[in-house]
Amino acid sequence: MKITFCGAAGTTTGSQHLLEINGQRILLDCGLYQGRREESRLRNSHFLFEPSELEAVVLSHAHIDHSGNLPNLTRQGYRGNIFTTFATRDLCQIMLADSARIQDQDARWLNRQEEKKGRTDHPITPLYTPEDAELCLRQFVTMGYERSMVIAEGVKLTFYDAGHILGSAQVALDLHEHSTGRRKRLLFSGDVGRGHNDLLRDPAVVPDVDYLIMESTYGNREHELETQADDRLSDILQNALRGRGKVIIPSFAVERTQQLIYALHELSEKGELPKVPVYVDSPLAVGATEIFRIHPECFNEEVYRFQFDKKDPFGFEELHLVRKVTDSKKLNELDGPAIIISASGMCEAGRILHHLKNNIEDKRNTVLFVGFCAANTLGARIREGQPVVNILGGSYRVRSSVEILDSFSGHADRSELVDYFEHMGGPREKVWLVHGEPEQSAALCENLRGRHDGEVNVAVWKESVEF
Ligand SMILES: [Zn+2]
Repeated sequence: MKITFCGAAGTTTGSQHLLEINGQRILLDCGLYQGRREESRLRNSHFLFEPSELEAVVLSHAHIDHSGNLPNLTRQGYRGNIFTTFATRDLCQIMLADSARIQDQDARWLNRQEEKKGRTDHPITPLYTPEDAELCLRQFVTMGYERSMVIAEGVKLTFYDAGHILGSAQVALDLHEHSTGRRKRLLFSGDVGRGHNDLLRDPAVVPDVDYLIMESTYGNREHELETQADDRLSDILQNALRGRGKVIIPSFAVERTQQLIYALHELSEKGELPKVPVYVDSPLAVGATEIFRIHPECFNEEVYRFQFDKKDPFGFEELHLVRKVTDSKKLNELDGPAIIISASGMCEAGRILHHLKNNIEDKRNTVLFVGFCAANTLGARIREGQPVVNILGGSYRVRSSVEILDSFSGHADRSELVDYFEHMGGPREKVWLVHGEPEQSAALCENLRGRHDGEVNVAVWKESVEF
């Protein structure tokens, strides 16, 4: 048995791990590498294995850094099954199509750069098209949590809830090596949730693990705030809306937006949300919200009960889901207080740019951040308190209030990862840490070595390990 770390080793993107057993190759995740444009293009176009030779693909969850290179894999000749959960399949339908649009924009950008240098003989084509994304979905085979299936000779797959995003799973593989008769359980954690999630269940405790491939995104960082953010959200909104201003919330379309909608719905039920219209203005967020509605099997007990007692957790009287561009533009003329949730969360693209442009110079308004913004993004500049920012080519003075609510993280922090490891009882044999920047993985590695008799190592990109 052998694993090769083909991505998300020493970094947090491009998750791909290749398992070899009984002469077959099984790929765990097929994520997109997301870094500088040209480097990303090179890494994503060339797989470290021959796609047509794979026996099966298993997908842990729908985030693009785990799923985003699947349409390219099938385009390059993979014809077998892609195993995942029901909700992950549905989220992939909209997220891969969205990713295809971004690939198209990136290819156009690169071609413009080439044209400027006078090179037009080899125009770059997108990594994949919306048609490739749709065709790839036809190879998906879906399974519920904790329903086992034999997916290859001597390989039985079981998904366990990872509590990270809707449909997210830990991938347990019961392996039977024919040549030696050895039987081992390998667990790939995927991304691990924090627990006490507003919508999802806690990560399941997987029994009898021998070998573990584990994420380490926040291997050396504790999240600052408690997970329950409703009280602070209520305070921020009440203050902001008292002055009859608007609240603009840059939000990630999948998961974060639905967490917000549910939190607002709860506040509305308790009479703690001022009676103002709430707009979700992002086609991807609206599509994702519809998918959340049809997957109660992923909800925690509270949301599950809410669904049966009070109906739709993701719909309430004041909520308006905006799809059409014309309806989005009407929001520019909106008079009076309102809450507008729009993507992207880091304010790099999308309709949020128009809302910021129209509202950031009015001191009655509030911009509320609910997620991480990478360095050098517009979101980061506003969060840092820069007095003047550039939006869509124009300069704008930040007169609105800026508020930050950082507790909605989808990833377990250092203590939560250690808890995850210890609840499992620790795997009996080896651990490989993936999906982390080097310093985060190294710190978690040291931490876990002190708690585990077996080997703990940080996975190295392109390296193979026999086990
Ligand atoms: Zn993820």
